[in-house]
Amino acid sequence: MELLGIERYTKYVGEEMVAAVFRAARPLYGLRLLHINATFHGGGVAGMLHSLVPLMNDVGINADWSLLYGDPSLFQVTKKLHNALQGEPVELTDREVADYLRVSETFARYSPIADHDVIIVHDPQPLPMIRYQQRENPWVWRCHIDISTPHESVWEALKPFLLRYDALVISSEGFRKEDLPVETHIIAPAIDPLSALNQELTANEVERKLDQYGIPRDKPLLVQVSRFDKWKDPLGVLEVFRRVKGEVDCRLVMLGNMATDDPEGPQIFAEVLGQVEGMEDVHLITQTDALLVNALQRAAAVVLQLSRREGFGLTVSEALWKQTPVVATNVGGIPRQVLHGQTGYLVEPGDYEGAASLVTRVMQDPELRHRIGAQAREHVRQNFLMPRLLLDWLKVLAELVL
Ligand code: UDP
Repeated sequence: MELLGIERYTKYVGEEMVAAVFRAARPLYGLRLLHINATFHGGGVAGMLHSLVPLMNDVGINADWSLLYGDPSLFQVTKKLHNALQGEPVELTDREVADYLRVSETFARYSPIADHDVIIVHDPQPLPMIRYQQRENPWVWRCHIDISTPHESVWEALKPFLLRYDALVISSEGFRKEDLPVETHIIAPAIDPLSALNQELTANEVERKLDQYGIPRDKPLLVQVSRFDKWKDPLGVLEVFRRVKGEVDCRLVMLGNMATDDPEGPQIFAEVLGQVEGMEDVHLITQTDALLVNALQRAAAVVLQLSRREGFGLTVSEALWKQTPVVATNVGGIPRQVLHGQTGYLVEPGDYEGAASLVTRVMQDPELRHRIGAQAREHVRQNFLMPRLLLDWLKVLAELVL
């Protein structure tokens, strides 16, 4: 008999976890819940909703998902907001603020909010919608980004909307806002071991995928999988590669698709492309292909994640799950996943020399790779798989509606 629902995860998380999920879901059966975010493709939020929404339905919640239909001008503004929330000094013009609010106002009018018992709004794009809707049911703002040191004026401008929310969900204790008197919950994101991004692949399948993109396996691969975004420090990745290449003859693969709500992608990509000119053994790929992500994370000798800010960084757990050593920056949600020396290695942002020497060491020590890899997978198994994310949400929902 083929299992279709949450039981499929039992082999990873155990029966106790699956039973705990149903225990938590039981008092919530029939709850009508609406997720609202701004993109169906690209980035970690959409990826998680693809798994979480069906799972919520499987355990008895009537979960829906609505997309805020933004136009490119909206995403120019919301990317600025995103940057400001992550600490960049950004000022918005009155026109930009008006555009931002107008989209939420319009969308609030025709989205099916009234048919739901709980509304979960993801990230800043649809945040103001709450301002334009009759308040009957609880609203939750699920913020996936690092808001520990936001640019002050933008934070103050968003606060009036935040104060209307019944709860805020963030990914790490470090993002808690002492100046925001709204009930705050911490839920770490999670990966789906059954999705195309993470499903098991045979060595043959991995090889075929790399062949398809013309990536030879003659040299160890250094890989970063990330949208082309300055916060992911793609130029820093090149810098580390140059240094490693002096010690170990290897290849670099940078894979980054473009999210529809990230208008800065093409410009950052062009900058990277400019720097790569004349460099040997560098592969830049912008296609969207989950199986390629999966294959690269398996084939890599080392996965890099050099983010300057990172709400969580699902790519880190994805690589750890595949037992591939990760060298990553000690920012945001990354140190929850990478325990230095145990499940991977941490460096401070901008420490390219430190990153390069760790990459070199890991590439040259197969025994170390093996030991770290096993611990990494177990850490992800215990903490960052979908059923745990679902359970955490059920607990927050119970607090809100029971
Ligand atoms: N991803 C992908 N293709 C790419 C780049 C990224 O499918 O070319 C996926 C990646 O595997 C991960 C998600 O997009 O699941 C990115 O999530 P993360 O939390 O790492 O970063 P975000 O983009 O949300 O800042």
